[in-house]
Amino acid sequence: PASVKNAVTIPRYVRVNTLKTTPDHALRHYIRSGYRQVEEWSKTVMQDPHLPELLILPSGTDLHADALYVRGDIIIQDKASCFPAFVLNPPPGSSVVDACAAPGNKTSHLVARMNNQGKVIAYDLDARRLDLLKRMTGKAGCNIIQAKHGSFLETNPKDEALSQVEYLLLDPSCSGSGIISRLDHLADVATASQSSSEWEEKDRLVSLSQFQISIIKHAMTFPAARKIVYSTCSVHAQENERVVETILASHPHFILAPRSQVLPTWSTRGETKSQGNLTDEQLDSLVRAYPDKDRTNGFFVACFIRRPASISGYI
Ligand code: SAM
Repeated sequence: PASVKNAVTIPRYVRVNTLKTTPDHALRHYIRSGYRQVEEWSKTVMQDPHLPELLILPSGTDLHADALYVRGDIIIQDKASCFPAFVLNPPPGSSVVDACAAPGNKTSHLVARMNNQGKVIAYDLDARRLDLLKRMTGKAGCNIIQAKHGSFLETNPKDEALSQVEYLLLDPSCSGSGIISRLDHLADVATASQSSSEWEEKDRLVSLSQFQISIIKHAMTFPAARKIVYSTCSVHAQENERVVETILASHPHFILAPRSQVLPTWSTRGETKSQGNLTDEQLDSLVRAYPDKDRTNGFFVACFIRRPASISGYI
C-alpha cells in the first residue's frame, strides 16, 4: 500500500560478493574512503548483525561509481531480499534450482554461498530479464549457472539433471506491495502494477496466490528436494501465510523448518493478526520484514523441509 511505500527511508545495503572479496576488505575500503565505522545502525558503515556478508551504509548512498560496485565486488541489494539465499544455504557442490531467477540477485547470492561449486539452474519466463541475469551474474564472477529461458512450471522434475536437485529457491512474481525503493528492485517490481479498484486488487491477489501455490506445488514434486525456500516482497498475508497454509494442508511430506534454522535472531516472524490455521510454532518459523519496524523492504520468507522420516539420512 502507498502508506507503507512512503513511510520510511531505508539504509543503503550492499551485499559483499564473497566470490571476489571479503566483508572485511570491503569494510576497510569504505573506511579508507572516508566512512566512519560505527557499532550502531545508521550513519556510516557497519556490518549487518544478521547477515555477515551484508554492509549497511546511509540511506540514499550512491555507489554506482564506487570501485567495488564497478568491479562486481558488491551487489546493491536490500537486506530482506538477501534472506532467501541465506536461509536456503545450499552447500558447495550441491544441485540447486532458482525457479524465478531474473535478474539474478538471489542467484548470485546462492552461487557465492556455494563458493562457485556445484550447479544452479536458473529459470525465467522473460528473455530480456534473463539476459540481464546473465550479465549481472557474469559481472559477479559466477560460473556455475545454467540460465534457462522458460516456465519453471513446465520443467520435468524427472529429467536427469533435475532429479538430483535438493535445494530450490522460489521467488515468484508477487504484488510487490512491500517495496519502498524502486531503484534497487527492478527484480521485484517487474510484475507489480497499480490496480484501479479494490475489486481488481482482490482479483489480482487471488490469481497471484494461485500462481505462487502452483510454483511451490511443482517444486515439491522434485524427487530429491529436501529444502525449499519461498519468498515474496509482498506484505499481504494472502500471498504469504495463507499460501503456506494451503501448501502444508495438501503436502504432508513437507514441514516448515524450525525457527532455529531460519534466521533465529530475527525478531519479526509470521503475522498473527489475520485469521488462519497456522500454529504459533509454525508462525514463529516464518520470517517477515516491515519497512517501518525493520528498515528493509516488506518481505516474507518460508522454508520448507522434507519431513525427516521420509528422507533417509536427513540431517
Ligand atoms: N529472484 C529474482 C531476483 O532476486 O533477482 C527476482 C524474481 S521476480 C520477483 C519474479 C520473476 O519470476 C520475474 O522475473 C518473472 O519473469 C518470473 N516468472 C514469472 N512466472 C514464471 C514462471 N512460470 N517460470 C519462471 N519464471 C517466472
